[in-house]
Amino acid sequence: MIKEDLKIFQGINSPGWLRLIENVFGLSKKDFSFLESYDEEMKKIENELKDIYYQKEYPKTQKAIYEFNKEMKKQVSDLRKENIKNEIEDLKKQLQENYDIYLKSKSPEFLKEAVWKINKSPELIKKIKRLKSELRLLESKKENKLIPHYQILQAREKPMKKVFESCEIPVGKNFLARCPFHQDKNPSMLVKGSFAYCFACGAKVDNIKFLRDYKGLSFTDSVEWLNCLSA
Ligand SMILES: [Zn+2]
Repeated sequence: MIKEDLKIFQGINSPGWLRLIENVFGLSKKDFSFLESYDEEMKKIENELKDIYYQKEYPKTQKAIYEFNKEMKKQVSDLRKENIKNEIEDLKKQLQENYDIYLKSKSPEFLKEAVWKINKSPELIKKIKRLKSELRLLESKKENKLIPHYQILQAREKPMKKVFESCEIPVGKNFLARCPFHQDKNPSMLVKGSFAYCFACGAKVDNIKFLRDYKGLSFTDSVEWLNCLSA
């Protein structure tokens, strides 16, 4: 079997594929060892490609996901605002109708009140109030401060190494990186867990603070950035 023929097997590297090929093609032991070395070679290339990807492409992908999420969030928010406005209009119309019935009715007051309630007018008023306050919240900048607590906790758990990589700062196997907070010639920043500490200048940051100081992101944006990082 020649190497060219094996090209068709590219991409087959799940466990047990050798057995599969043996059953289908009746290969000899010799072919096997050749296939194994070929497989090793493929794995090596794959790992090299992975390294290149992580160094060059990963930060870009990360940024694209972050921008996409932000854009989606804005679109969802705009859509919700539009829906709330329409809902309020509909509710107001219903309420106006109820009010007209109330005004035009010549029944005694207690009956008019009863009809007013049967038509669910108090509920309509409450609902309109609730929707209006939601709309106010969405339209104000406060919207950005409303990050669910679990998202902050989730963000805090993201490994600092990933965060550094997403900012294109390589971290060595000894957990050391060049400190971005001073002119660092030799890596003197220890990157471990979700913290980083610089032995030279004393900078000490968790992953959220790092993004705020290094990238100038807001707290909310830092949390979002972290939650966009792959596991
Ligand atoms: Zn430093």
